Amino acid sequence: DPTCEEFEYQAEVSRLMDLIVHSLYSNKEIFLRELISNASDALDKLRYLSVTEPKLLKDAVDLDIRIQTDKDNGIITIMDTGIGMTRQELVDSLGTIAHSGTAKFLKALKESQEAGADSTLIGQFGVGFYSSFLVSDKVVVSTKSPKSDKQYVWEGEAGASSYTIREETDPEKLIPRGTHLTLYLKHDDKGFAHPERIQKLVKNYSQFVSFPIYTWQEKGFTKEIEVDEDPTEANKVGEEESKAEKKKKTKKVVERYWDWELTNETKPIWLRNPKDVTTEEYNEFYKKTFDEYLDPLASSHFTTEGEVEFRSILFVPATRKDDIVNTKTKNIRLYVKRVFISDDFDGELFPRYLCFIRGVVDSNDLPLNVSREILQESRIVRIMRKRLVRKAFDMILGISLSENKEDYEKFWENFGKFLKLGCIEDQSNHKRIAPLLRFFSSQSEDELISLDEYVENMKTEQKDIYYIAADSLTSARNAPFLERLLEKDFEVLFLVDPMDEVAIQNLKSYKEKNFVDISKEDLDLGDKNEEKEKEIKQEFAQTCDWIKKRLGDKVARVDISSRLSSSPCVLVSGKFGWSANMERLMRSQTL
Ligand code: ADP
Ligand code: MG
Repeated sequence: DPTCEEFEYQAEVSRLMDLIVHSLYSNKEIFLRELISNASDALDKLRYLSVTEPKLLKDAVDLDIRIQTDKDNGIITIMDTGIGMTRQELVDSLGTIAHSGTAKFLKALKESQEAGADSTLIGQFGVGFYSSFLVSDKVVVSTKSPKSDKQYVWEGEAGASSYTIREETDPEKLIPRGTHLTLYLKHDDKGFAHPERIQKLVKNYSQFVSFPIYTWQEKGFTKEIEVDEDPTEANKVGEEESKAEKKKKTKKVVERYWDWELTNETKPIWLRNPKDVTTEEYNEFYKKTFDEYLDPLASSHFTTEGEVEFRSILFVPATRKDDIVNTKTKNIRLYVKRVFISDDFDGELFPRYLCFIRGVVDSNDLPLNVSREILQESRIVRIMRKRLVRKAFDMILGISLSENKEDYEKFWENFGKFLKLGCIEDQSNHKRIAPLLRFFSSQSEDELISLDEYVENMKTEQKDIYYIAADSLTSARNAPFLERLLEKDFEVLFLVDPMDEVAIQNLKSYKEKNFVDISKEDLDLGDKNEEKEKEIKQEFAQTCDWIKKRLGDKVARVDISSRLSSSPCVLVSGKFGWSANMERLMRSQTL
């Protein structure tokens, strides 16, 4: 074949295939999940492109996935009518590793080897196309892209360091669009080609694929056929009866045939009634959709009506992927009338600081060909965003109120930083963020408290919420500023995270109580005795002058203070200056 060309795999690919085969041998059946998810991605891409380019669908084939099995020969064929691949795309996609799923796999594999973790965990990651070699000796991919007028065939064998690509020339094998992937199963894996086995795996792995998946199944129906009564039987009976009119008898037989059978449920989970969806189903959906391996901490499924209608399911992850605010997290998947539009947003649907929330949003009110620019300017999107944010906060509040205390501790550990950032960036949601914040305090050992707990614990004569910022709990506890407050049994928040103080300063108050920095001058604990202070100030005026002279420019002022009880002196910040902690923060430029 003159069109046939041989290619070497990129070196990493060979290594990856080796790794896959060795680490997933006990979890082989995931190959089907991977290949179906690729077919589904290819259909998604086509459907999305066809919104602006309807002629892509001109060949009028349905958007679906079909899986045919030949159990006698151990062959499985997975067919989709999606976007297909050009010759160059075949080389780029099936000869290199440039895509996300496999990179993630390598990372997980490395981590699990370090941690000595269970290798079946890895089976939950997307490992991609190469997993087909877990069960196959040979894989043939025949594919036709609407961008090309030719159909190409990729062929590779297990353990080989190269593959071939040729043009499809057999007219019987030409397809209008999409990809046919044929697996020639290894001797010991031929069992996967049993139609019932495939059916079971499809049901198991693909309940959230939004395109119909058909499997090739043997069917039967019974029909009645007429049979002549056995003449020998008749002879045995008496004469009279044999003379009677010969009776016709019927018999039931089963007629067998093969046909396509719809094997998955295609109604998206978010369109179902929340009452009918179980927690397990939400968790499965979350893990499959967002490539996660831990159940989410919380989920929220809702429909909004009125001005703007949309449906959504939001999730709070159990772990954090990024340390910093990363806007490229593909956290929200937007659908318009069930068509997947995009998961590449930059604050349009959620503010940056909530980028850890994951979810799907399906709207009937946006145009199908919605673009970035439309999203940014749309009034509908602004309303959606407002509602989504509100729901996200309700969901987080739900975790904080749950019986299971560990859940919120986990949440706070992972995402507390993000909420503090919210205090700075989102004034309009201060009321929702503040009750979710947690701080150390002078009255809790190592436990964090909420502002509500603080307020409840306030003394009757106490007006303000007191705090001190420090670089550690120990230095906060030892601060001389604390003395008089502790004497009065006033609780003081210990702001030891660099972002705590900025967050508090942005909030300014909580439940009409101001936040007051106890290290600033002018601390008023509501017990001033002005007469006495005046007296003492006069008495020690000369001493203060003398100290100021000695210290010179190192201090702005030297004053008599009423805030100490056992320490002789303390350095405080000016009312309008930065606190010592803020200065540290600015110097280190953590923000
Ligand atoms: P991933 O799906 O994470 O990108 P895979 O290894 O599963 O990684 O697939 C690699 C690439 O091969 C895909 O990104 C896609 O471009 C291409 N591909 C695989 N299967 C198909 C298919 N059925 N139709 C079109 N393209 C496909
Ligand atoms: Mg894939």
